[in-house]
Amino acid sequence: MRWENLTVESGGHSRAADAALFGADAVVSRTFDTPEFRGITFHEVRARSIINRVPGASRMPFEWTVNPYRGCSHACVYCFARRTHTYLDLDSGLDFDSQIVVKVNAPELLRRQLGSRRWQGEHIAMGTNVDCYQRAEGRYRLMPGILSALRDHANPFSILTKGTLILRDLDLLVQSAQVTDVGISVSVGFTDPELWRTVEPGTPAPERRLDVVRTLADHGLGCGVLMAPVIPFLSDHPAQLRATVRAIAAAGATSVTPLVLHLRPGAREWFMAWLARHHPYLVRRYERLYADGSYAPKWYQRRITRQVHELAREYGIGPTRAGMPRRIQPSEPPEPSMPESTQLTLI
Ligand code: SF4
Repeated sequence: MRWENLTVESGGHSRAADAALFGADAVVSRTFDTPEFRGITFHEVRARSIINRVPGASRMPFEWTVNPYRGCSHACVYCFARRTHTYLDLDSGLDFDSQIVVKVNAPELLRRQLGSRRWQGEHIAMGTNVDCYQRAEGRYRLMPGILSALRDHANPFSILTKGTLILRDLDLLVQSAQVTDVGISVSVGFTDPELWRTVEPGTPAPERRLDVVRTLADHGLGCGVLMAPVIPFLSDHPAQLRATVRAIAAAGATSVTPLVLHLRPGAREWFMAWLARHHPYLVRRYERLYADGSYAPKWYQRRITRQVHELAREYGIGPTRAGMPRRIQPSEPPEPSMPESTQLTLI
């Protein structure tokens, strides 16, 4: 790792207060004076635990997660994880995009916890809170160590990402899929370039993400697409849904799962401020559509789901199936018509 152009900052808290907030023994904050990291501060911590149990009340279809980062420079305006930054005494807006916690000991800690007699080898989901292949991963390179540990313990896992950086670890993914169940999903909610630039400003373009799907498929790694979020009045026109599903099918996705935008506290304020700046004429319509809380009405969600499923059938994408990902044999790529079961989560 190169540390030139490095500034070590103390930040607004004492080191002890930072450590307590971050649930770690020590915190070092760094900034890098390179274009891709300008304006971002990394808080390097040595975490005390890395395999986390999802709270029982969660709507998530998995029990264990590994998250080497907190905060996400992909900076999606609607990101539901924004609120979790407030638990660190940081704000859910710009701080979420630019104050990134890096659990620098994640690989070694995971290897140790996977080797513990108490660990039962259950499925581990990654990318479920924030993206593990966000920009920071290019510098910190935590995922190769994490994937190596999972492979060596033949521990089943899934990854959900918008990051093209996942292809850097293609060999490790292929090796893992030879010994255990691996589910990979890429998140592509729409293909409109203007919408992408403003609402997901730090992410690779949707076409680049679909290239990831294509490359994974070429290497025998089935990849589903989480079509999320479908953004009311901005990406839900039938022609837009059709263009997106067609592109997803052309990339060789094994499944497509639509998910309508939800606006929980933390994300809601940030998204609505963005909406007022970019599409002020939609503010009243959103207030009505989300009048009952964080979710769009059931009738709207059902309509989008039905439309996307019909398009998926038309373009020959296999249906999404619930359950754990299947083991993938890289030497025998699946038939295009054969649906792969993937672990699909929210992002
Ligand atoms: S939605 Fe995913 S990729 Fe976007 S900011 Fe949140 S965690 Fe990052």
